[in-house]
Amino acid sequence: MRSSLTRCSWSVTGWREPRTGSRVSRARPTGRGRLHYRARVSTSPDRRAFLGDLAERLPHGSVVTRAETLEGLRRDQTPIIEAGMPIAAVLPTSTEEVAMVLRLASEHRVPVVPRGAGSGLAGGANAIDGGIVLSLIRMDRIIEIDTDDLVVVCQPGVLNATLAAEVTARGLFYAPDPSSFEICSIGGNLATNAGGLRCVKYGVTRESALALEVVLADGEVTRVGRRSVKGVAGYDLVGLFVGSEGTLGVITEATLRLRPAPLPAGTLLATFDRLADAATAVADITAAGVLPSVLELMDQTTIRAVEEWRQLGLDTDAAALLIARSDTADFGRAELDAAQTACRSAGATEILRATDALEAEGLMDARRAAYPALERLGIALLEDVAVPRGEIVRLVEAVERIAAEHEIRIGTFGHVGDGNLHPTLVIPRGDAAAQARALEAADAILRETLALGGTLTGEHGIGLLKRELLGTELGAGGIRLSRAIKDALDPLGILNPGKALPS
Ligand SMILES: Cc1cc2nc3c(=O)[nH]c(=O)nc-3n(C[C@H](O)[C@H](O)[C@H](O)COP(=O)(O)OP(=O)(O)OC[C@H]3O[C@@H](n4cnc5c(N)ncnc54)[C@H](O)[C@@H]3O)c2cc1C
Repeated sequence: MRSSLTRCSWSVTGWREPRTGSRVSRARPTGRGRLHYRARVSTSPDRRAFLGDLAERLPHGSVVTRAETLEGLRRDQTPIIEAGMPIAAVLPTSTEEVAMVLRLASEHRVPVVPRGAGSGLAGGANAIDGGIVLSLIRMDRIIEIDTDDLVVVCQPGVLNATLAAEVTARGLFYAPDPSSFEICSIGGNLATNAGGLRCVKYGVTRESALALEVVLADGEVTRVGRRSVKGVAGYDLVGLFVGSEGTLGVITEATLRLRPAPLPAGTLLATFDRLADAATAVADITAAGVLPSVLELMDQTTIRAVEEWRQLGLDTDAAALLIARSDTADFGRAELDAAQTACRSAGATEILRATDALEAEGLMDARRAAYPALERLGIALLEDVAVPRGEIVRLVEAVERIAAEHEIRIGTFGHVGDGNLHPTLVIPRGDAAAQARALEAADAILRETLALGGTLTGEHGIGLLKRELLGTELGAGGIRLSRAIKDALDPLGILNPGKALPS
């Protein structure tokens, strides 16, 4: 009975309570759609009744209203962007409890922000004034590891690193490996469709998701997908929920695909005098039929930041470096030979090859240090754009031009093998003028990416950060379809309102 429903609305002017129409928060968009909330906790009788109902039905300790705890749960890791003030954080331990919370939230029209480990970089888990944060972190059980079917069944709150370690102990492999693997949850990975270094070979999270249990906005528990690796019956509902950033349902269980453990990887590091040469090498590696398990780029700004911090012996005069790994036979010898030939003919000035696992890890250290090295220099605003591989050079050159124009230090690194780069804008702490310039520069990078046929986000999601530009990428048709899906699954608009779609 859609027509009889009173839909809650959330807009850039804030969350509007349906019954009274009173505004409980204000937000204003700046630049690229960053939203600034003015925190104000609702104390309306209706909200108090909601909290009372929750506390009555859930086990003691599940509903938290202490200001200090809420402070720690109201934002993710995105710098600069602000967050609202929730009326409570709710920490369920079972699907039934999640369903109960959503039934009550629907009844009372309270916005619900699902939250995993809060490591997101798009503001997706940031709280909304007057809403609740639904933390899934206590639902952290690995339910089953099936070594015959090669699947793992788990709850959403298990950390990626914990899951990976458990399956590795059984000689198996869970492929999606965001760099944040030690601090992010499987639920968050699914909701953002997280990527990582190995995705160039093994695909992003969606490619490992077989089936999900999801609680819908009205509290209905539903299952989508199947346990078999193959299966095409019906619409791809798993694909729909993966990457939906908590706006279509709350993921309470996942059946994920495992693989046999790969062979130990070999690693190659090549440096280049010209960025264009590194890009040519990437194209040639691909053309040679090599399927590296990792193919990463670091630009000069990033190389210098890493070297300044860690003194790994990197060539700070190099314009770029590439790191390629192969996990085929004999430490990837044949593939890395081909990659080495490609790098040499593209003009690499130096090529290092690791001969054992320890050395390989040593070379990978340079890449792992990229983000923390830039973060040492100021507030690091990590962008996440992807372009067709053929446009990599134009993208990095555009980033260099934008950095000069806006007088902002930008280090670019990332998953060049699948065209996904992380230009990282470094803002001196306490410098408001630089912050304003950085936001403009970030906007310019996004627009340049779209002009190159790329996408606003390769793996982090839209969240709050990029919602105002999404229409430019998806077009009116894409936005209309997305809204139709949102309306069908969440007719009251209580699930993570204001995220992942333009206002
Ligand atoms: C240092 C660093 C490195 C990073 N590296 C990478 C990287 O290499 N690749 C990458 O993809 N990301 C990376 N990230 C970003 C982040 O770790 C990922 O987006 C991750 O998937 C978020 O998981 P989380 O559990 O922290 O989710 P949160 O931040 O808590 O939430 C993220 C989104 O998912 C929703 N959500 C969470 N749980 C559920 C659920 N159970 N049901 C429905 N919706 C839910 C939230 O509402 C929100 O919209 C990095 C972050 C940091 C800080």
